[in-house]
Parts: sequence; C-alpha cells; structure tokens
Amino acid sequence: MSNLIQHNSNKVIIAENLTKRFGHFTAVDNISFEVSRGEIFGFLGANGAGKTTAMRMLCGLSIPTAGKGMVAGYDIETQTELVKKSIGYMSQKFSLYDDLKVWENIELFGGIYGMKDKEIKVKTDELMKVLNFENERDKLVGSLPLGFKQKLAFSVSIFHTPQVVFLDEPTGGVDPITRRQFWELIYDATSRGITVFVTTHYMDEAEYCNRVSIMVDGKIEALDSPKELKKQFNASSMDEVFHQLARKSTRVDS
Ligand code: ATP
Repeated sequence: MSNLIQHNSNKVIIAENLTKRFGHFTAVDNISFEVSRGEIFGFLGANGAGKTTAMRMLCGLSIPTAGKGMVAGYDIETQTELVKKSIGYMSQKFSLYDDLKVWENIELFGGIYGMKDKEIKVKTDELMKVLNFENERDKLVGSLPLGFKQKLAFSVSIFHTPQVVFLDEPTGGVDPITRRQFWELIYDATSRGITVFVTTHYMDEAEYCNRVSIMVDGKIEALDSPKELKKQFNASSMDEVFHQLARKSTRVDS
C-alpha cells in the first residue's frame, strides 16, 4: 500500500500494477492509472482485452493476483464490502427486472442500496419528472424501448448517490441519438461529483470522455484525453486511434 495516495480524496480510483491471472493466462497485466472525482474515464479495448476482468476487480468482485487498487478510498482486496457500498454498477447484461414495473424496480434497488422508504419515494417522484417518465411509472420495464430502459437503469445505478459508477457497455444496441441522450445523464451525474468509469465499443462515446485508456492484450497501451490521443497517434478520430492500437493485439478471444 505504500505508494497509494491514501488521503487524497480527489483520486476516487487508483490502480497500481493491478494484475489478474487465470492459471498461466494473464488477463489483466500490470495496469496502473488514477481517476479523479467527477471525471468520466473511458476504458476501451477490443473483445477479450481484459476490461471486464479489470472492472470486476475494481468493484470488489474479484481478488487481484497482484497489485493494488483503491476505490472511493477503500482497498479493493481487503475492504470489498465498503467498496461495494460506495459504487453503482450497470451493464448491458445486467440491469433491471423486465417483469417488475418501473417504480417497483426503483424501490427494489433503492432498498438493496440501503435507502429509507421515504427517501426512495421522494427521489422516485423527482426522477420520474427529470426523465419525463411520469406516464411510464406503472409500466413493466420489459415493455419499454431499449433506450428508455438504459436511461432508467443508469438512473437506478446512481439512485443512492455513489461516489463512482461503473458502466459496462451501457448503451449497446441503440442509435447515436439515444446514446447522446444517455450521455446527457452521465454529464449531469458528474456535475454532482459522481465519477464515471465506462467501457464502450462506440468511438463516438470515447470522444465524450475526459480521458480514455486503451487496453491491448491485458495492458494499457495508451491513456490520455481524446484530443491528446489523436495528436499522439496523428489520427483524425478516436476510431482511428483505437484501430491503430487494436491491430497490435495477438490475443484470440474465444
Ligand atoms: P469483452 O469486450 O468481450 O467483454 P473484455 O475486454 O471485457 O472483453 P475480459 O472479459 O476481461 O475481456 O476477458 C479477458 C480475457 O480473460 C479473455 O481472454 C477471457 O477469455 C479471459 N477470462 C475472463 N474470465 C476468465 C476466467 N474466469 N477464467 C479464464 N479466463 C478468463
């Protein structure tokens, strides 16, 4: 722990030589970075690069083989319960229950996050207004269009005002305009001091991040603002930067 900045509350995520091996295979290979409070940090990489494995370690769901990490001031190896209480999480694969109504999902997750009934009720009313969802409140989540579901899932993931929210490909399958609307919610969250850690395959979204890291075969090969990365790689878009780096991959994901 010696090198970790334990008292710098501005650094909400710190990864120091974080490594995960499965047998002889190194899925995440010695990655180091820091994310500041209120920052939007894009975590990019081709399929199988190691993003989900790294994110699982940062969420306290998987113990690192080597290296250290701090999230919201807590050690991801020894204080996993405190880490979990300080974060929100949303992924394309897991979000809300289709067979529950909108308000029932909010009540359920608010309760899981330890919020009081009164607070859940007041915040649900607020959220329905902000999302312009007053007519959807009593509908089953399964009946909503995908873009609505994603906005709702994101709002639920930050309902308890966590310090950090981890988003694993949150906007898969929707068009650029709906993605743009989703990102308005992300900006709003960061303006309230929530730090956003997001993986995506969409390069328009990479452009919206404050900084972006690009993983290739378990290692971070580039990390900077989109503007600086484009300069560094003499590229006109993040798509071009990404493809220059992804070409270096020798990993074949099953
Ligand atoms: P994607 O974008 O496809 O989700 P990713 O960058 O998130 O990819 P990971 O899911 O972290 O990649 O996987 C990284 C590598 O580690 C892959 O080769 C994967 O097969 C391997 N891997 C992940 N979990 C395990 C496990 N539990 N046991 C063995 N290998 C694993």
